[in-house]
Amino acid sequence: MFYDRITKFYTLRFFLKILLLFMFLVSQLWSMNLYKKGDSNENTMFLLSGIHGNERGAYLAACLVVTKYDIQKGSVWVIPNINMPSIIENKRGINGDMNRKFHKISEFDKDYQIVSRLKNFIAQDNINFLLNLHDGSGFYRPTVINSTYAPYRWGQSIVIDQKNMNHEFGNLYEISQNIINNINQNIYNSKHHFRTKNTKTNMGNASMSKSLSWFALNNNKPSITSETSFELDVITRVKHHLMVIEATMNELGIEYSRDFNLDNDEIKEVLYSGLDIVIEDVLLSLDGVKPVIKNVPLVSKTPKYKSSNPLISLREMDNVYNVLYGNEILTSIEPEYRDKSLTNMPVFVNIDNEFREFVHMPSVVNVKSHFSIEDSRYYRINVIGYVNNYEDETNIDIYRSNFIQDYAIDQNRNTYRVEVYDKRDDSFVGMFLIKYEE
Ligand SMILES: [Zn+2]
Repeated sequence: MFYDRITKFYTLRFFLKILLLFMFLVSQLWSMNLYKKGDSNENTMFLLSGIHGNERGAYLAACLVVTKYDIQKGSVWVIPNINMPSIIENKRGINGDMNRKFHKISEFDKDYQIVSRLKNFIAQDNINFLLNLHDGSGFYRPTVINSTYAPYRWGQSIVIDQKNMNHEFGNLYEISQNIINNINQNIYNSKHHFRTKNTKTNMGNASMSKSLSWFALNNNKPSITSETSFELDVITRVKHHLMVIEATMNELGIEYSRDFNLDNDEIKEVLYSGLDIVIEDVLLSLDGVKPVIKNVPLVSKTPKYKSSNPLISLREMDNVYNVLYGNEILTSIEPEYRDKSLTNMPVFVNIDNEFREFVHMPSVVNVKSHFSIEDSRYYRINVIGYVNNYEDETNIDIYRSNFIQDYAIDQNRNTYRVEVYDKRDDSFVGMFLIKYEE
Protein backbone atom coordinates (compact mmCIF):
# COMPACT_ATOMS: atom_id res chain seq x y z
CA MET A 1 0.00 0.00 0.00
CA PHE A 2 2.74 2.40 1.06
CA TYR A 3 4.90 1.59 -1.99
CA ASP A 4 1.85 1.99 -4.18
CA ARG A 5 1.34 5.53 -3.03
CA ILE A 6 4.98 6.34 -3.62
CA THR A 7 4.81 4.85 -7.10
CA LYS A 8 1.68 6.87 -7.82
CA PHE A 9 3.39 10.00 -6.58
CA TYR A 10 6.39 9.47 -8.86
CA THR A 11 4.18 8.55 -11.82
CA LEU A 12 2.22 11.74 -11.31
CA ARG A 13 5.44 13.74 -11.09
CA PHE A 14 6.72 12.05 -14.23
CA PHE A 15 3.59 13.02 -16.15
CA LEU A 16 3.73 16.55 -14.82
CA LYS A 17 7.32 16.82 -16.04
CA ILE A 18 6.30 15.55 -19.49
CA LEU A 19 3.43 18.05 -19.49
CA LEU A 20 5.81 20.89 -18.59
CA LEU A 21 8.21 19.83 -21.32
CA PHE A 22 5.33 19.81 -23.79
CA MET A 23 4.18 23.27 -22.65
CA PHE A 24 7.76 24.46 -23.03
CA LEU A 25 7.97 23.12 -26.61
CA VAL A 26 4.65 24.74 -27.49
CA SER A 27 5.83 28.04 -25.99
CA GLN A 28 8.92 27.86 -28.23
CA LEU A 29 6.73 27.95 -31.34
CA TRP A 30 6.42 31.70 -31.02
CA SER A 31 9.41 32.28 -28.86
CA MET A 32 11.00 35.61 -28.19
CA ASN A 33 14.24 36.35 -29.99
CA LEU A 34 17.39 37.97 -28.60
CA TYR A 35 19.30 40.10 -31.10
CA LYS A 36 22.84 41.22 -30.33
CA LYS A 37 24.11 44.25 -32.22
CA GLY A 38 27.50 45.95 -32.05
CA ASP A 39 30.46 44.90 -29.90
CA SER A 40 29.29 43.19 -26.70
CA ASN A 41 32.66 43.83 -25.04
CA GLU A 42 31.77 47.50 -24.74
CA ASN A 43 28.85 49.18 -22.95
CA THR A 44 25.73 47.15 -23.62
CA MET A 45 22.19 48.44 -23.41
CA PHE A 46 19.46 45.79 -23.09
CA LEU A 47 16.34 46.98 -24.92
CA LEU A 48 13.14 45.14 -24.01
CA SER A 49 9.63 45.38 -25.38
CA GLY A 50 6.52 43.38 -26.10
CA ILE A 51 6.06 42.13 -22.54
CA HIS A 52 2.56 43.59 -22.94
CA GLY A 53 1.22 42.31 -26.26
CA ASN A 54 -1.10 45.23 -27.05
CA GLU A 55 1.59 47.94 -26.90
CA ARG A 56 2.36 48.27 -30.59
CA GLY A 57 4.34 51.51 -30.40
CA ALA A 58 6.80 49.82 -28.04
CA TYR A 59 7.42 46.60 -29.93
CA LEU A 60 7.49 48.22 -33.39
CA ALA A 61 10.14 50.72 -32.19
CA ALA A 62 12.38 47.98 -30.76
CA CYS A 63 11.91 45.97 -33.94
CA LEU A 64 13.17 48.93 -36.01
CA VAL A 65 16.32 49.00 -33.88
CA VAL A 66 16.84 45.33 -34.78
CA THR A 67 16.21 45.73 -38.51
CA LYS A 68 17.20 49.32 -39.41
CA TYR A 69 19.88 50.53 -36.99
CA ASP A 70 23.64 50.07 -37.21
CA ILE A 71 25.49 50.12 -33.92
CA GLN A 72 28.97 51.57 -34.45
CA LYS A 73 30.28 51.83 -30.91
CA GLY A 74 29.15 49.85 -27.88
CA SER A 75 26.36 47.36 -28.21
CA VAL A 76 22.63 46.93 -27.97
CA TRP A 77 20.88 43.68 -27.16
CA VAL A 78 17.22 43.67 -28.12
CA ILE A 79 14.27 41.44 -27.39
CA PRO A 80 11.43 43.19 -29.23
CA ASN A 81 8.82 40.46 -28.84
CA ILE A 82 8.98 39.14 -25.27
CA ASN A 83 5.35 38.04 -25.15
CA MET A 84 4.83 36.94 -28.77
CA PRO A 85 1.64 34.89 -28.15
CA SER A 86 0.03 38.01 -26.63
CA ILE A 87 1.36 40.24 -29.45
CA ILE A 88 -0.36 37.96 -31.97
CA GLU A 89 -3.60 38.27 -30.00
CA ASN A 90 -3.13 42.01 -29.38
CA LYS A 91 -3.77 41.40 -25.66
CA ARG A 92 -1.89 42.80 -22.69
CA GLY A 93 -1.17 39.29 -21.46
CA ILE A 94 -3.04 36.13 -22.45
CA ASN A 95 -1.72 34.49 -19.26
CA GLY A 96 -2.07 37.53 -17.02
CA ASP A 97 0.34 40.44 -16.57
CA MET A 98 3.82 39.05 -17.31
CA ASN A 99 5.40 42.19 -15.86
CA ARG A 100 4.14 41.24 -12.39
CA LYS A 101 5.77 37.80 -12.37
CA PHE A 102 9.41 38.71 -11.67
CA HIS A 103 9.28 38.40 -7.91
CA LYS A 104 7.59 35.03 -7.71
CA ILE A 105 6.33 32.67 -10.39
CA SER A 106 5.07 29.10 -10.22
CA GLU A 107 6.76 26.62 -12.53
CA PHE A 108 3.26 25.74 -13.74
CA ASP A 109 2.64 29.31 -14.93
CA LYS A 110 2.49 29.43 -18.74
CA ASP A 111 4.88 32.42 -18.67
CA TYR A 112 7.41 30.55 -16.51
CA GLN A 113 9.85 29.69 -19.32
CA ILE A 114 9.91 33.19 -20.78
CA VAL A 115 10.28 34.89 -17.39
CA SER A 116 13.09 32.49 -16.40
CA ARG A 117 14.95 33.05 -19.66
CA LEU A 118 14.60 36.83 -19.25
CA LYS A 119 15.98 36.69 -15.71
CA ASN A 120 19.02 34.79 -17.03
CA PHE A 121 19.59 37.32 -19.81
CA ILE A 122 19.28 40.29 -17.42
CA ALA A 123 21.92 38.82 -15.11
CA GLN A 124 24.55 38.61 -17.91
CA ASP A 125 27.70 40.42 -16.87
CA ASN A 126 28.15 42.61 -19.91
CA ILE A 127 24.75 44.29 -19.67
CA ASN A 128 25.22 47.79 -18.22
CA PHE A 129 21.76 49.24 -18.53
CA LEU A 130 18.17 48.23 -19.31
CA LEU A 131 15.66 50.27 -21.29
CA ASN A 132 12.09 48.94 -21.23
CA LEU A 133 9.50 50.18 -23.70
CA HIS A 134 5.77 50.41 -22.92
CA ASP A 135 2.71 52.25 -24.23
CA GLY A 136 0.68 53.51 -21.28
CA SER A 137 -2.59 55.21 -20.48
CA GLY A 138 -3.16 58.97 -20.54
CA PHE A 139 -0.43 61.43 -19.66
CA TYR A 140 1.59 61.33 -16.46
CA ARG A 141 1.41 64.53 -14.40
CA PRO A 142 2.68 64.94 -10.81
CA THR A 143 -0.69 66.40 -9.74
CA VAL A 144 -4.24 65.60 -10.88
CA ILE A 145 -5.41 67.88 -13.68
CA ASN A 146 -8.20 65.60 -14.85
CA SER A 147 -8.57 61.86 -15.31
CA THR A 148 -6.34 61.86 -18.42
CA TYR A 149 -3.55 64.03 -16.96
CA ALA A 150 -2.81 62.59 -13.54
CA PRO A 151 -0.17 61.00 -11.28
CA TYR A 152 -1.70 57.54 -11.79
CA ARG A 153 -1.28 57.78 -15.59
CA TRP A 154 1.85 56.54 -17.35
CA GLY A 155 1.93 58.06 -20.84
CA GLN A 156 4.85 60.29 -21.91
CA SER A 157 7.07 59.52 -18.95
CA ILE A 158 10.44 58.01 -18.16
CA VAL A 159 9.75 55.71 -15.23
CA ILE A 160 12.39 55.08 -12.58
CA ASP A 161 12.05 52.99 -9.40
CA GLN A 162 14.34 55.21 -7.34
CA LYS A 163 16.64 58.19 -7.89
CA ASN A 164 20.01 56.52 -7.44
CA MET A 165 21.75 53.21 -7.07
CA ASN A 166 25.37 52.26 -6.61
CA HIS A 167 26.48 51.67 -10.19
CA GLU A 168 28.38 53.49 -12.96
CA PHE A 169 25.00 54.30 -14.59
CA GLY A 170 23.04 54.30 -11.31
CA ASN A 171 22.07 58.00 -11.39
CA LEU A 172 18.66 57.08 -12.75
CA TYR A 173 16.95 60.40 -12.05
CA GLU A 174 19.73 62.42 -13.66
CA ILE A 175 19.83 60.12 -16.70
CA SER A 176 16.04 60.37 -17.09
CA GLN A 177 16.25 64.18 -16.91
CA ASN A 178 19.04 64.25 -19.52
CA ILE A 179 16.94 62.09 -21.84
CA ILE A 180 13.89 64.28 -21.30
CA ASN A 181 15.80 67.54 -21.92
CA ASN A 182 17.24 66.01 -25.05
CA ILE A 183 13.93 64.84 -26.58
CA ASN A 184 11.37 67.41 -25.41
CA GLN A 185 12.97 70.11 -27.58
CA ASN A 186 11.97 68.00 -30.59
CA ILE A 187 8.38 67.36 -29.43
CA TYR A 188 6.45 70.38 -30.61
CA ASN A 189 3.23 69.83 -28.69
CA SER A 190 4.17 70.62 -25.09
CA LYS A 191 1.26 68.49 -23.82
CA HIS A 192 3.22 65.50 -25.13
CA HIS A 193 6.44 66.35 -23.33
CA PHE A 194 8.01 63.62 -21.22
CA ARG A 195 8.41 63.82 -17.44
CA THR A 196 10.22 61.63 -14.91
CA LYS A 197 7.86 59.36 -12.97
CA ASN A 198 9.46 57.92 -9.84
CA THR A 199 7.44 54.94 -8.58
CA LYS A 200 9.56 54.81 -5.36
CA THR A 201 9.36 51.04 -5.47
CA ASN A 202 11.69 50.59 -2.48
CA MET A 203 9.27 52.64 -0.32
CA GLY A 204 6.73 49.81 -0.49
CA ASN A 205 5.23 49.91 -3.98
CA ALA A 206 3.88 46.33 -3.89
CA SER A 207 2.80 46.22 -7.51
CA MET A 208 6.04 47.59 -8.98
CA SER A 209 8.16 45.30 -6.80
CA LYS A 210 6.98 42.40 -8.96
CA SER A 211 8.17 44.02 -12.20
CA LEU A 212 11.04 43.21 -14.52
CA SER A 213 12.60 46.60 -13.81
CA TRP A 214 12.71 46.04 -10.05
CA PHE A 215 14.16 42.56 -10.59
CA ALA A 216 16.92 44.22 -12.66
CA LEU A 217 17.71 46.80 -9.96
CA ASN A 218 17.95 44.02 -7.38
CA ASN A 219 20.50 42.32 -9.62
CA ASN A 220 22.52 45.52 -9.77
CA LYS A 221 21.38 46.45 -13.27
CA PRO A 222 20.18 50.02 -13.72
CA SER A 223 16.83 50.03 -15.51
CA ILE A 224 14.44 52.70 -16.76
CA THR A 225 11.21 52.57 -18.74
CA SER A 226 9.96 54.67 -21.64
CA GLU A 227 6.17 55.06 -21.61
CA THR A 228 4.43 56.70 -24.55
CA SER A 229 0.73 57.48 -24.48
CA PHE A 230 -2.02 55.35 -26.03
CA GLU A 231 -3.70 58.72 -26.69
CA LEU A 232 -1.18 59.25 -29.52
CA ASP A 233 -1.27 57.40 -32.85
CA VAL A 234 0.99 54.36 -33.16
CA ILE A 235 3.55 55.95 -35.52
CA THR A 236 4.02 58.91 -33.15
CA ARG A 237 4.48 56.43 -30.30
CA VAL A 238 7.17 54.62 -32.33
CA LYS A 239 8.87 57.96 -33.03
CA HIS A 240 8.91 58.98 -29.36
CA HIS A 241 10.29 55.60 -28.30
CA LEU A 242 13.05 55.89 -30.92
CA MET A 243 13.91 59.35 -29.58
CA VAL A 244 14.18 57.92 -26.04
CA ILE A 245 16.26 54.96 -27.28
CA GLU A 246 18.70 57.27 -29.06
CA ALA A 247 18.96 59.66 -26.12
CA THR A 248 19.64 56.70 -23.82
CA MET A 249 22.35 55.41 -26.15
CA ASN A 250 23.92 58.89 -26.00
CA GLU A 251 24.00 58.68 -22.21
CA LEU A 252 25.79 55.32 -22.42
CA GLY A 253 28.27 56.39 -25.12
CA ILE A 254 26.72 54.00 -27.67
CA GLU A 255 26.99 55.26 -31.26
CA TYR A 256 24.53 54.33 -34.00
CA SER A 257 23.37 55.23 -37.47
CA ARG A 258 20.13 54.85 -39.40
CA ASP A 259 19.20 55.81 -42.95
CA PHE A 260 15.82 57.41 -42.33
CA ASN A 261 14.63 60.56 -40.59
CA LEU A 262 12.54 60.52 -37.44
CA ASP A 263 9.40 61.88 -39.03
CA ASN A 264 6.10 60.07 -39.20
CA ASP A 265 6.05 59.49 -42.97
CA GLU A 266 9.54 58.02 -43.09
CA ILE A 267 8.97 55.90 -39.99
CA LYS A 268 5.83 54.46 -41.53
CA GLU A 269 7.71 53.69 -44.72
CA VAL A 270 10.57 51.87 -43.01
CA LEU A 271 8.16 49.96 -40.78
CA TYR A 272 6.62 48.40 -43.89
CA SER A 273 9.77 47.89 -45.97
CA GLY A 274 11.98 44.81 -46.20
CA LEU A 275 9.33 42.49 -44.74
CA ASP A 276 9.41 38.89 -45.88
CA ILE A 277 8.49 35.36 -44.93
CA VAL A 278 9.82 31.99 -46.06
CA ILE A 279 7.20 29.26 -45.73
CA GLU A 280 8.80 25.90 -46.44
CA ASP A 281 10.40 26.57 -49.88
CA VAL A 282 8.27 29.59 -50.69
CA LEU A 283 9.63 33.08 -50.13
CA LEU A 284 7.16 35.94 -50.17
CA SER A 285 8.21 39.56 -50.19
CA LEU A 286 5.61 41.35 -48.03
CA ASP A 287 6.24 44.95 -49.10
CA GLY A 288 2.90 46.24 -50.37
CA VAL A 289 1.65 42.66 -50.49
CA LYS A 290 -1.90 42.02 -51.68
CA PRO A 291 -4.45 41.03 -49.03
CA VAL A 292 -4.91 37.54 -50.53
CA ILE A 293 -2.49 35.28 -52.41
CA LYS A 294 -4.10 32.25 -53.98
CA ASN A 295 -2.85 28.77 -54.89
CA VAL A 296 0.45 28.93 -53.03
CA PRO A 297 2.14 25.53 -53.22
CA LEU A 298 2.70 24.11 -49.75
CA VAL A 299 3.70 20.62 -48.69
CA SER A 300 2.71 20.40 -45.03
CA LYS A 301 -0.48 21.44 -43.29
CA THR A 302 1.71 22.72 -40.46
CA PRO A 303 4.37 24.47 -42.53
CA LYS A 304 7.63 25.67 -40.99
CA TYR A 305 8.39 29.31 -41.58
CA LYS A 306 10.97 31.97 -40.84
CA SER A 307 11.36 35.69 -41.42
CA SER A 308 14.09 38.31 -41.21
CA ASN A 309 11.67 40.31 -39.05
CA PRO A 310 11.01 39.17 -35.45
CA LEU A 311 7.37 40.29 -35.54
CA ILE A 312 6.30 38.21 -38.54
CA SER A 313 4.40 35.01 -37.82
CA LEU A 314 2.11 32.58 -39.61
CA ARG A 315 -1.25 31.42 -38.29
CA GLU A 316 -3.59 28.91 -39.79
CA MET A 317 -7.27 29.77 -39.69
CA ASP A 318 -10.01 27.91 -41.59
CA ASN A 319 -7.55 26.42 -44.10
CA VAL A 320 -6.01 29.81 -44.83
CA TYR A 321 -2.63 30.96 -43.51
CA ASN A 322 -2.53 34.51 -42.24
CA VAL A 323 0.82 36.28 -42.26
CA LEU A 324 0.90 38.59 -39.25
CA TYR A 325 3.13 41.58 -38.52
CA GLY A 326 2.66 41.87 -34.79
CA ASN A 327 -1.12 41.47 -34.68
CA GLU A 328 -1.75 42.99 -38.11
CA ILE A 329 -2.70 40.61 -40.94
CA LEU A 330 -0.53 41.52 -43.94
CA THR A 331 -1.88 38.86 -46.26
CA SER A 332 -3.85 35.60 -46.32
CA ILE A 333 -2.40 32.67 -48.18
CA GLU A 334 -4.68 30.11 -49.78
CA PRO A 335 -2.61 26.94 -50.04
CA GLU A 336 -2.52 24.33 -52.74
CA TYR A 337 -1.00 21.19 -51.25
CA ARG A 338 1.66 19.45 -53.32
CA ASP A 339 4.05 16.55 -52.95
CA LYS A 340 7.60 17.72 -52.42
CA SER A 341 10.30 16.84 -54.93
CA LEU A 342 13.58 15.57 -53.55
CA THR A 343 15.58 17.68 -55.99
CA ASN A 344 16.36 21.34 -55.53
CA MET A 345 18.93 22.29 -58.13
CA PRO A 346 19.18 25.91 -59.27
CA VAL A 347 17.40 27.20 -62.36
CA PHE A 348 19.28 29.22 -65.00
CA VAL A 349 17.71 32.59 -65.67
CA ASN A 350 18.88 35.15 -68.24
CA ILE A 351 18.26 38.65 -66.98
CA ASP A 352 17.86 41.70 -69.21
CA ASN A 353 20.13 40.08 -71.85
CA GLU A 354 22.94 41.12 -69.51
CA PHE A 355 23.78 38.14 -67.35
CA ARG A 356 22.91 34.55 -66.58
CA GLU A 357 22.13 33.72 -62.99
CA PHE A 358 21.91 30.43 -61.08
CA VAL A 359 18.70 30.97 -59.20
CA HIS A 360 18.43 28.96 -56.01
CA MET A 361 15.05 28.55 -54.40
CA PRO A 362 13.58 30.28 -52.58
CA SER A 363 14.85 33.70 -53.70
CA VAL A 364 14.01 37.02 -55.36
CA VAL A 365 15.37 37.90 -58.82
CA ASN A 366 15.51 41.60 -59.69
CA VAL A 367 14.76 42.43 -63.31
CA LYS A 368 14.81 45.74 -65.18
CA SER A 369 13.06 44.83 -68.39
CA HIS A 370 12.76 41.08 -69.08
CA PHE A 371 13.98 37.61 -68.20
CA SER A 372 14.00 34.18 -69.72
CA ILE A 373 14.34 30.83 -68.03
CA GLU A 374 16.51 28.16 -69.65
CA ASP A 375 15.01 24.83 -70.50
CA SER A 376 15.87 22.01 -68.11
CA ARG A 377 15.60 18.26 -68.56
CA TYR A 378 14.27 17.94 -65.04
CA TYR A 379 12.00 20.86 -64.44
CA ARG A 380 8.69 22.14 -65.64
CA ILE A 381 8.42 25.90 -65.19
CA ASN A 382 5.17 27.69 -64.38
CA VAL A 383 5.38 31.48 -64.56
CA ILE A 384 2.23 32.47 -62.68
CA GLY A 385 0.11 34.98 -64.59
CA TYR A 386 2.09 34.65 -67.83
CA VAL A 387 -0.09 33.45 -70.64
CA ASN A 388 1.13 32.20 -74.00
CA ASN A 389 0.14 29.72 -76.63
CA TYR A 390 2.88 27.23 -75.85
CA GLU A 391 2.97 24.50 -73.27
CA ASP A 392 6.53 25.46 -72.42
CA GLU A 393 7.45 28.67 -70.65
CA THR A 394 11.23 28.41 -71.05
CA ASN A 395 13.56 30.19 -73.47
CA ILE A 396 11.13 33.06 -73.99
CA ASP A 397 11.78 36.69 -73.05
CA ILE A 398 9.09 37.66 -70.57
CA TYR A 399 8.32 41.34 -70.01
CA ARG A 400 6.14 42.86 -67.34
CA SER A 401 3.52 43.59 -70.02
CA ASN A 402 3.23 39.83 -70.73
CA PHE A 403 1.68 39.22 -67.31
CA ILE A 404 -1.94 39.37 -66.33
CA GLN A 405 -1.31 41.96 -63.66
CA ASP A 406 -3.83 40.53 -61.20
CA TYR A 407 -1.38 37.69 -60.62
CA ALA A 408 1.24 39.98 -59.08
CA ILE A 409 1.66 39.38 -55.35
CA ASP A 410 2.06 43.10 -54.59
CA GLN A 411 -0.31 46.01 -55.00
CA ASN A 412 2.18 47.89 -57.22
CA ARG A 413 2.22 44.89 -59.58
CA ASN A 414 5.97 44.54 -59.71
CA THR A 415 6.45 41.05 -58.26
CA TYR A 416 5.44 37.73 -59.83
CA ARG A 417 5.87 34.05 -58.90
CA VAL A 418 7.73 31.39 -60.81
CA GLU A 419 6.97 27.84 -59.67
CA VAL A 420 9.21 24.94 -60.49
CA TYR A 421 7.97 21.35 -60.75
CA ASP A 422 9.74 18.01 -61.21
CA LYS A 423 9.06 16.74 -64.76
CA ARG A 424 9.06 13.10 -63.69
CA ASP A 425 6.17 13.15 -61.23
CA ASP A 426 5.04 16.82 -61.21
CA SER A 427 6.05 17.21 -57.58
CA PHE A 428 6.89 20.71 -56.28
CA VAL A 429 10.55 21.75 -56.34
CA GLY A 430 10.36 25.38 -55.22
CA MET A 431 9.45 28.92 -56.11
CA PHE A 432 11.25 32.17 -56.81
CA LEU A 433 10.02 35.71 -57.32
CA ILE A 434 10.64 37.99 -60.29
CA LYS A 435 10.67 41.59 -59.15
CA TYR A 436 10.53 44.25 -61.87
CA GLU A 437 12.11 47.62 -61.13
CA GLU A 438 9.55 50.33 -60.31
ZN1 LIG B 1 3.05 47.97 -20.64
